[in-house]
Amino acid sequence: MQNLGQVKKMKISELLGSEKIGISCELFPPKLGSQLANVKDVVKEMADLKPSYMSITYGATGGTSEYTVDIANEIQNVNHIPALAHLTCASSGKEKVHEVIEELKEAHIENILALRGDIPENADFTLQRDYKYASELIYDIKAQGDFCIGGACYPEGHPEAKTMEEDLIHLKDKVDAGCDFLTTQMFFDNNIYYNFMYKVLQKNITVPVIPGIMPVTNSGQIKKIISLSGNMVPPRFKAIVDRFADNPSAMRQAGIAYAAEQIIDLIANGVNHIHIYTMNKPGVAGEIFNLLSEIYVRG
Ligand code: FAD
Repeated sequence: MQNLGQVKKMKISELLGSEKIGISCELFPPKLGSQLANVKDVVKEMADLKPSYMSITYGATGGTSEYTVDIANEIQNVNHIPALAHLTCASSGKEKVHEVIEELKEAHIENILALRGDIPENADFTLQRDYKYASELIYDIKAQGDFCIGGACYPEGHPEAKTMEEDLIHLKDKVDAGCDFLTTQMFFDNNIYYNFMYKVLQKNITVPVIPGIMPVTNSGQIKKIISLSGNMVPPRFKAIVDRFADNPSAMRQAGIAYAAEQIIDLIANGVNHIHIYTMNKPGVAGEIFNLLSEIYVRG
């Protein structure tokens, strides 16, 4: 594994403990090794924007796991930005999970977002049963080393949960298993996040809850998001999609402005860290960062 220059180790819990405003970005690994060089170029472009950390997803079918560690290494040890490696357990048994954890230790990656993962319909792999829920994965990671562990949460409720109350009870179990922080599923109305925070605190969940913001830059994206996550689309956002769906560059500009506005409102209301689902689009991330140039001091 490539390991150049100074290693920028930093637990995300330390970043979140500071009063400084932080913005992090998310990338996904390539499906094929032949696309690795392109994604590494994207990592560099994104790192040049100086986000507070960068996360890298882990393919639901487990097939991209080797690239997740590789990209996390690239983020942290080549581009000197703290890395958060996602790790899912729906398709990976204990043996595979332990293998990935050892690779992360070797690369000095200290931050893991521990997830169950989604099971795609018609998946051509065997569902693993070593861990049923993310909380079981979190217990196991905790036992394997000194990691800062994050978990996912759903301000509108996880699609499989019968009620919000049930989902919150499981969320509390997940945090008690050893989560140091949570990152939310995307939402398009900040009141959803603020209401969720009341419920979270009522359940005595006191770890930081980082809001996840998705810049929607094309109309196809929004249809996919709603069908996958059941997100509520506020009328103000729906009007943008209705008005600009047929004008890609206008839709892109409006989507970026909407995401930046959501971020500004969150910061104005006391949220110090925001995660952007930048999805390998450094151009989009760069435009959002520019709109926040006097609000977010980079680095
Ligand atoms: P869990 O916490 O296990 O919850 C799943 C469901 O089970 C919930 O409905 C919960 O209420 C329920 N539940 C939990 N515990 C119990 C229990 N003890 N008894 C009964 N029910 C229970 N997917 C990927 O494949 N790769 C990624 O990199 C990735 N990154 C993500 C990042 C973020 C920030 C988010 C929000 C999601 C991400 N996902 C990713 C998607 C995620 O894997 C799916 O949403 C998945 O369906 C749930 O994962 P989880 O870790 O939240 O699961």
